[in-house]
Amino acid sequence: MIELDGSAGEGGGQVLRTALSLSMITGQPFRIANIRANRDKPGLRRQHLSAVRAAAVVSAATVSHAEVGSTELEFTPGPVRGGIYEFDIGTAGSTTLVLQTLIPALLHAEHPTTVSVVGGTHNPKAPPAQFLQRAYCRALAALGADVEIDIERFGFYPAGGGVLSASVWPCRQLHHLDLMERGALREAYAEVVASRLPEQVAQRQFSTVRNLLGWDEGQMRPTLTPPTFSPGNAVLLTIESDAVSEVFSAIGDRGVRAETVAREAALEARRYLASGAAVGEHLGDQLMLPMALAGGGSYTLDHVSQHAITNAEVIARFLPVSISFEQEERCSICRIKRHV
Ligand code: ATP
Repeated sequence: MIELDGSAGEGGGQVLRTALSLSMITGQPFRIANIRANRDKPGLRRQHLSAVRAAAVVSAATVSHAEVGSTELEFTPGPVRGGIYEFDIGTAGSTTLVLQTLIPALLHAEHPTTVSVVGGTHNPKAPPAQFLQRAYCRALAALGADVEIDIERFGFYPAGGGVLSASVWPCRQLHHLDLMERGALREAYAEVVASRLPEQVAQRQFSTVRNLLGWDEGQMRPTLTPPTFSPGNAVLLTIESDAVSEVFSAIGDRGVRAETVAREAALEARRYLASGAAVGEHLGDQLMLPMALAGGGSYTLDHVSQHAITNAEVIARFLPVSISFEQEERCSICRIKRHV
């Protein structure tokens, strides 16, 4: 039984999600205490609980203390089974984070899977659906995995009701990947989702992006106004290069100016472009787990977050790898090596 302390390092929900994925894959049970101890409302919230329940269903696991607010948990997985699954978070909790918990494990199933999750598709502090589609899935494809994400319905806080589905084809062994350069720029474009909001919100956001990134009118895509249960706003900046795709984003909120939201996404994109790194901060913390499953690899990233360092520590508890970060002049390098 692997014992984890959920308050270690960043002390957020990722410790639990990474443990769930790797427990399902390696078959090693784990016990975690102090879940999300460093957050305002510690313990399991709906999104984390949904990840636990979904993981338990796909791997026929036994779980103790799986309830909202729980600060400890024990998880003993069985074999991961492909098939057709549907989960409902029950709130606007992040569907992308629940899918990211399941996808690496479903690659190890014997049969393909289609899984859909109801909740939020564009949440603050979580990958937006298009990030999973374009950035995460392309990185998985470079590692040899075939995963497709479909946005069936957009969902924003507080009403949620979005539906995101994933099709996952089995891939027992991912390949080694060195992603040191992003390669030549293929395309960069901005999108604004503005559901049930005045048209000028999107126009102000496009204008902020053009000013901060020096992008031209042709790089601004038509405003997306999908039907949603509550109003929602997201700014998405996609940068596709020869070796990798990135999506930088920010989510609007009541009382936050449209320009402030666009600025947040644009500054993140600008930092990435200036760093020369292959991936940004978020893909940088999410690429580590599949690369560790591949048995090793390396990549350059624009910023090493506390989140990434904590994730590296949890991964090394389940897999025989060492993960190190080196600071270079403009960016950092993450190296994952299998123990000999
Ligand atoms: P808590 O921190 O409250 O426990 P949580 O479980 O929802 O909340 P974290 O543990 O902070 O979340 O993990 C959030 C994940 O979402 C990280 O992998 C992070 O890189 C990713 N993420 C956050 N914002 C973005 C973004 N704009 N684009 C892509 N990924 C993002």
